[in-house]
Order: sequence, then structure tokens, then C-alpha cells
Amino acid sequence: QQKEQAAEKAVDEWRKQAKIESYGIRSQLSMQEQRESLPVFDKREELLKQVQENDIVVVVGETGSGKTTQITQYLAEEGYGNKGIIACTQPRRVAATSVAKRVAEEVGCKVGDEVGYTIRFEDVTSDRTIIKYMTDGMLQVEALSDPDMKRYSVIMLDEAHERTVATDVLFALLKDAVKRRKGSLKLIVTSATLDSAKFSKYFFDCPVFHIKGRTFPVKIFYTKRPELDYIESTIDTVIDVHVNNPKGDILVFLTGRDEIDTCCETIIEKMSVLYKSDPKMAELIVLPIYSALPSEMQSRIFEPTPEGKRKVVLATNIAETSITIDGIYYVVDPGFVKVNAYNAKLGMDSLIVQPVSRAQADQRSGRAGRTGPGVCFRLYTKNAYLNEMSANTVPEIQRQNLSNTILMLKAMGISDVLNFGFMDPPEEDTILSALDELYILDALDVDGNLTKTGKYMTSFPMEPKLTKTLIKSIEFNCSYEVIIIIAMLSVPDVFYRPKEKKERADKMKSKFNDYNGDHLTLLNVYLKWEDSNFSKSWCQDHFIHEKSLKRARDVKRQLLSIVENLDRKERRLDSSVRSCKGNYDLIRKTFVSGFFKNTAKRASNHGHKDEEGSYRTLVENIPVYMHPSSSLFKKHGVDYVLYHTLVLTNKEYMHCITKIDPKWLILYAPRFFKQADPNQLSLTKRRERIQPLFNRNDPKEKWRLSRGRR
Ligand code: ADP
Ligand code: MG
Repeated sequence: QQKEQAAEKAVDEWRKQAKIESYGIRSQLSMQEQRESLPVFDKREELLKQVQENDIVVVVGETGSGKTTQITQYLAEEGYGNKGIIACTQPRRVAATSVAKRVAEEVGCKVGDEVGYTIRFEDVTSDRTIIKYMTDGMLQVEALSDPDMKRYSVIMLDEAHERTVATDVLFALLKDAVKRRKGSLKLIVTSATLDSAKFSKYFFDCPVFHIKGRTFPVKIFYTKRPELDYIESTIDTVIDVHVNNPKGDILVFLTGRDEIDTCCETIIEKMSVLYKSDPKMAELIVLPIYSALPSEMQSRIFEPTPEGKRKVVLATNIAETSITIDGIYYVVDPGFVKVNAYNAKLGMDSLIVQPVSRAQADQRSGRAGRTGPGVCFRLYTKNAYLNEMSANTVPEIQRQNLSNTILMLKAMGISDVLNFGFMDPPEEDTILSALDELYILDALDVDGNLTKTGKYMTSFPMEPKLTKTLIKSIEFNCSYEVIIIIAMLSVPDVFYRPKEKKERADKMKSKFNDYNGDHLTLLNVYLKWEDSNFSKSWCQDHFIHEKSLKRARDVKRQLLSIVENLDRKERRLDSSVRSCKGNYDLIRKTFVSGFFKNTAKRASNHGHKDEEGSYRTLVENIPVYMHPSSSLFKKHGVDYVLYHTLVLTNKEYMHCITKIDPKWLILYAPRFFKQADPNQLSLTKRRERIQPLFNRNDPKEKWRLSRGRR
């Protein structure tokens, strides 16, 4: 108690001194001075020596110590760029692009020249590029065609503590590549916090290099009681900090774009009231940051805050370790994060919001102590922190659907995927269900070998269900439209729904609605935009995010060029890209061939009045609900549907829904559904006349799939 009080007092003192001295100092330094002020700079020679003497080095260092932006430059300055590209992987697209921009600025070149980046559907590199930031997913794809990574002289697997599936796979692949290329490929595994002994052991007992960061103490406040509405208390906390506390910027951690946008709007609203009532009130600059944000908006968070103002940055967990913003003194942490997790109950991945781990909570509060002593407001109780949160984040590989990963390993000729050298192997059952999914999608044959379809699938940077749909669309002569729909599905929501004009926005949206569902609605939007000659004002008039559509257009071009390349490779005479010329049923059938597992049937009501939009999944018979944003919401006669994703909020909501005919399931997913045998089924099932084929439960089948013939 006494110690705590003393510490509290010390922090207060610190804050009083620090508030003028250290605030905003970095931004006044020259670029070179900024670089030299980073903790990693003092270790430059020592680090380069380690890299020269060892093929693999694990680097552990505080967030913001300069690992991501500096180490690549040191290596380039040392001449590693002459022998190949210096690559640095990031788990997140935003991190890859924003860091590349920063480093290009430091080097003094344009992005895409000496310093570039590669993320899915976007390659900003050239022949001159020697430092390349990329998502770990993109490097994983490159491993397919070049398992030895011959283009690279150094690969830095950054943010290894995030333990994404792609990074975990690269751990194993690169470990072997380094061994094969003896001395000519260096691997650096970098992380903010990690179990360095475990990492070193996995990488042939390699050395661990520590970079000590400069950190200041952070005073942590908890709530007395659990918060009922964390959004509301986040907003209150931010405004309270702004009104009642000395200067310093605020960083808020939220779970996603919707939350961030709502909070931004509300804070701006509340502030405008305060400005009116108190003309002396300092301005609060409100800035969002999340992956879907256009990049010029993203760079605004790094601009120094003007004197006399304060900024608040509302971020997803990208600001936890991958992006460092200087000048943050206050952190507001509601304690939640959105993750993509395998839901055993539903037999598929879905997005869920869950409490962060203690390690994550500590990373978040640490963000407040980089420029001077800071304060972190945890919007949960101390008891929750100590007793309810898990100590560490579970590696993604142990909680996600692995079909994409397994397909890739199979394509690399690794047939015995059950014994692949993962650092923390996933449950056997996860691998088996991935194999099973690939088998029913016709990517593997019964012996677990890659089929022609499977091989074709590996050319596309998408999940197998979508790739299968695309391949089927070629057969069904509707690939042109399906490519547009896939592009639209891969970008952030195109519909814009401002708070004060919701009704008008909804009315505009309903003009695009197709009575067969959302996939076709998305197609309509794109085609109408094309008709308007890609007009900006058309987007504004129709409450459409132009940025999302432009991205969709880029994705569409990418996919078209992949298909055209494959045509050329297979020496096809006529193009695979064809339009269905208005025969939209073909499109819906095509989607059934990939998404047959994502299907549901309207819940029967047994004489009771059922809840609006309530369905049950065909495979697991789990209750799911139609999201009110669907163009099929409250429409009659929608008995069977296919959906793109499930999102769990207070209920399991289906997003992007299309009406289907159950007969199509038997026709286009014959490895999964069969005509039900009337004698074996209950009365209700007999009416349904379809039945999932469950061969999964036969252990012999499973083993055959997983081994494969070589
Ligand atoms: P680490 O990888 O060790 O966490 P970084 O290399 O990402 O550290 O960050 C080092 C410094 O570079 C930080 O002080 C950060 O604020 C700054 N920085 C990184 N990206 C940008 C950017 N886009 N604009 C301005 N400063 C940046
Ligand atoms: Mg970093």
C-alpha cells in the first residue's frame, strides 16, 4: 500500500516535469538525429557482427526501439542488398505499407524504388528495390515457387510474437532454407516480447540479441466494477482526459472499424458542444487507424500535434506493437480484441471479440511510457486482469482453419502434413478437418494428393472456398461476374451509413438490392459504378465508399490477370473469362460449389411465431441469424440460403447472403451432400431430401488423406 502510494507520487512528480521537457521533442529533430536517437542505434555494430557470424539470430526488443525501421537499413548500408533483397515481413498490411513509407522517407527515395512493399493485391517494388516490406502471407506464397528464397539475402521475420499462421509456417520453411543455403541466407526473427529460450532452441540454439528500450513508468488505473458498455466509458474517459489532464496525446484500443468510426463520431459531436460552452477549450484532433483506412489518412496519425492541441488516436490492435506513434502519454484500454477463430461448434472460422491476454494488456499500457511517464486507463477490474485474462495469446495456428496452409504445404510436395515441423503443432483434428475440406472442394484426391483443381487453386491469393468458386465459374461461363463479386467481397464494406442520414442511405442501398441476395447486389453496385464511368459524385450520391470500389477494381484486375496468365500457361485458345450475360442463376450455382458448407435453412416454427430472420445451419444445425443489412432481410420465401461469413456479436449473424435451391447442393457439392434415403430419415428430414455425407468420422479415411502417396 505504502509503496504504491510512493510510486504514485513519484509518477505525478515525473509527469509534472516531463510534461514540458520531453513532449514533442523527437519531432523537432532532423531525420538523421531521429534515427540516431533510437535505442537500436547504439547496438548497430554489435548486431551486424552477430548477423555476420550466425545464420539465424533472434532479436528481442521493446516496441519502438527501432527494430523494424532500422535493422533493414543497417543491413543495406552494410552491403547485404548487393547479394539479394532484404525482406522484412509484417503480420499486417497497414504495418507493411506504413513502415515502407517511413523507411523510404528516411532513405530519401520514393516508395517502390530502393524501398518498397508487397501486400496482397498490391506490389509496390521495382528492379531497384533492395529493402522490401511485405506481409508474412505474401512471403509464404513466394515459398511455393521458390522454396530456397533465392531472391533474398536476408529475411527478417518481424513481429514474431504475433504468431500468425503464416509466420509460424515460415519459421519451419525458412529454417530448412537457411540450412540448405549455408551462409548465403540470413534469418532474423524479431519480436517485442517473446519466449526467447524457446525460439532459440527451435532455431538450432541460435543466439538471442537484446535491445533495451527506453521506457518510462506508466501508472495504471483499473475500474472498480466491470464496465457494462465499454464504448461509452471509452468516450467518457477520452473526454475526461482531454478536459482535466495535462498535455500529451491519447491512444485508444478498440476492436474494429465500426467501433472506431462510432467512437470518432461521438467524440467529435461531444467536443463540438464543449467548444461552444467554453471558447478556451483546447482542440482535440480525432484520428482513426485501421487496415481499411485509406493510406493518406493513415499517415496523419504520425504528424506531430500542433502546439496547444491534443490528438486522440483510435486504433485496432495494430498500434499494440506494429506501429509506434510518438507523443502518446495516455492509453485507454477497454481490454478487447477481435480475432478470427475456429469455432468448433460451427465447424468454421468466425470473427469474435474476446478479452485480450495479460501480455497484450501490458503491451498496450507500455505505449504510454515511450515519450515520458504515462498513464493507462484499463476499463476493467484489477481482478479481471489478474484472474480472468489468460497470460499469453494463443498462437493463431492453434485456433484457426488451416485449409489454405495445408493446401500450400501439399503443393510444395510436403505430403505428410501431420508431421510438419511446426514450433507449436496444431491439434491433429484441425489438420484433419482442413484435409477434409480440401478433399470435398476437390483440391485433394482420396489419397491426399493435390489434384489439378488443387494446383490451379494455389495460384490465387484467396481462401480455398473462394478459389473453388472462381474455378467453377469458368466452367459455368460466368467468371467475369464472379470475379467482380469476389473482388467486392474482399474489400471493406462499400456501403456508407452516416449516423444522421441512416434512412436516406438505406433507401439508396435498396435501389441496388437484388431479390436473390447480397452477392448479386454487390455485382449491381459495381456494374452501376462502371456505367457511371467510375464517377466520384455517383458514389457520394449513392452513399458508397469510393475507396472500397476503387480497391475492388484493383482486385478485379489482379484476378483477371492471374486467370489470363494461367490461360496462357495452359495454352487455351479461348479466354476463361466469360460473362453470363444476365443469367444470374449460374452465379448463384457457382457460389454453391464453393460455399456449400456455409448454408442454412429457415428455422421451422412448429406453429409458434419465429424470430425474424432466424435460420439453422444445414451441416451442424446451429441457430444463425440474417443480418439486418442483408438485401434479403424480411423478404418472403427465402428458405435456403448461402452466406459468406458469420460474425458473432450478440448473436451469430450471417453476412452477405444469397438465396439458393437445395437441389443445387446435391448437384454441385456431391462430395458433401447426397439425396437423403427416405427410410432412414425422420419426418422433417424426409421433407428436406438432402443429407450431409459425413465420411469425416471414419478414421481410416482421415489417415489416408493426411499421408498421401508421394
Ligand atoms: P520497433 O520495430 O522496434 O517497434 P520501429 O522501427 O517501428 O520500432 O519504430 C521506430 C521509430 O520510428 C518510432 O519512434 C516510430 O515513432 C517511428 N516511426 C515508425 N513509423 C513511422 C511513420 N510512418 N512516421 C513517423 N514515424 C514513424
Ligand atoms: Mg516493429
